[in-house]
Amino acid sequence: MSSALETLRRDFGGGIIESGDTEYESASRSVLAPGSPAHVLRPRSVEDVQAAVRFAARTRLSLSVRGGGHGFPGFGTNDGGVVIDLSHLASVEIIDKERHLVRIGGGATWGRVAAALAPHGLAISSGDSNSVGVGGLTLAGGIGWKVRKHGLALDNVAAAELVTASGQVVQANTADNPELFWAIRGGGGNFGIVTAFDFVAHPTTEIFFGTIAFPASQAATVLQGWADYLRTAPDELTSTVAFANPFAGGPEAPVEIHVAFDGDDQQLAAQVIDPIRRLGTVTGDNIALKPYADTLADGTPPSPGIQFMIRNAFVVQESVPEVLQILADVRASERSPAITVRSVGGAVSRVPNHATAYAHRQAELMVMTTTAGPKPAVEAARPALAAIWERLAPHVSGAYANFLTSATEQDVAAIYPAKTYQRLTAVKRRYDPGNLFARNHNIRPQ
Ligand SMILES: Cc1cc2nc3c(=O)[nH]c(=O)nc-3n(C[C@H](O)[C@H](O)[C@H](O)COP(=O)(O)OP(=O)(O)OC[C@H]3O[C@@H](n4cnc5c(N)ncnc54)[C@H](O)[C@@H]3O)c2cc1C
Repeated sequence: MSSALETLRRDFGGGIIESGDTEYESASRSVLAPGSPAHVLRPRSVEDVQAAVRFAARTRLSLSVRGGGHGFPGFGTNDGGVVIDLSHLASVEIIDKERHLVRIGGGATWGRVAAALAPHGLAISSGDSNSVGVGGLTLAGGIGWKVRKHGLALDNVAAAELVTASGQVVQANTADNPELFWAIRGGGGNFGIVTAFDFVAHPTTEIFFGTIAFPASQAATVLQGWADYLRTAPDELTSTVAFANPFAGGPEAPVEIHVAFDGDDQQLAAQVIDPIRRLGTVTGDNIALKPYADTLADGTPPSPGIQFMIRNAFVVQESVPEVLQILADVRASERSPAITVRSVGGAVSRVPNHATAYAHRQAELMVMTTTAGPKPAVEAARPALAAIWERLAPHVSGAYANFLTSATEQDVAAIYPAKTYQRLTAVKRRYDPGNLFARNHNIRPQ
């Protein structure tokens, strides 16, 4: 046994899973990617995380940090390296009742958070699914059902505790290591392992939530009407449109407007939601009052062999009509990917641009395409997808890190405009000069 492994076994109180162990098969993979790491380490304490980081640094093996394991590029695993799987660091604790301050372990999932906060009438703006990790979603953004009212998940972070590449524990907040605090709100897992986040939660009631469906043939008018309405709608309304889903009819798939109205006043909700119902011929409407925790979906992991190709970009107000027209045209073709458009204005746009490393605050919408299937089908879809994005290119900009399957230099440049990247590089040099944390949309130390 190497001396690094001996030291690890001496200092580490968590689980060490290696090939041949009964748990290895499930522990080796992240939700969306297979892997064959040499060691999966499951720390139970901050000290364990320190020991695990020192082990990875000493061995120079490739390091994956796994939060909820839902990252699309499969950063949560690797071949032959070390995985630090944070799933045992999943506590959710209200630490200040008056300020609604909640401390959340770096390996918790959003379903666990929503369920723990519900009895206290609290919630945190997160994403749309139970099983997604607090770590990955928050460190890069966090666009969920309360985004227009309460901002991105990262806008609600008050402080974090990290283990950096040297194995030190540091605090990051507006007073301690403020530049690191800036960087971890948008810069992903580049700067260390977040062992705990302090979030400011928000009082929540039950919310009006569901889907209003329209015929595919009305896509162009429904999409434009939806975007125009959201521009002036109250922030309590967050909404997403999904259409052209190949598994629901492709060109004939209904246009589904998902609606979350953050409140339980029926009259007010109707007033705010009814203009959406008037956008076209409603073919389905299941809006109902629900506990916030029940709005989060239970994703089912994809069958083995199914691959995803996900791309996205942001749209500012002036380009909205053009982009929606292109998407409405594309939807009618047999080779269209599934298309989703999320509203990301409201509270997100009111945070100053330089306040966090998330750089796309002025966008009104985010457009995302999803191609899924066995590898040959996904490969065959590439040219059509490239053609769609070529048409969109003059009218869109940037990218949201959490909805990308790839991690090319082009992707990194789209996520981080040059000035943001430069500032992140300086933080990286200080906290991870050897680029130990590289399995992410990577900020290079130089
Ligand atoms: C079914 C599904 C639904 C989704 N819905 C939404 C949504 O509604 N809104 C949205 O914004 N996004 C959504 N996403 C995207 C999601 O935000 C990303 O996939 C995110 O990276 C998942 O985080 P994770 O911790 O589960 O993944 P992981 O693969 O574990 O981690 C992703 C990245 O974050 C790093 N990381 C994770 N935790 C930590 C930590 N504690 N400290 C340091 N680094 C860490 C990892 O090293 C890795 O680089 C969804 C994804 C899926 C699969």
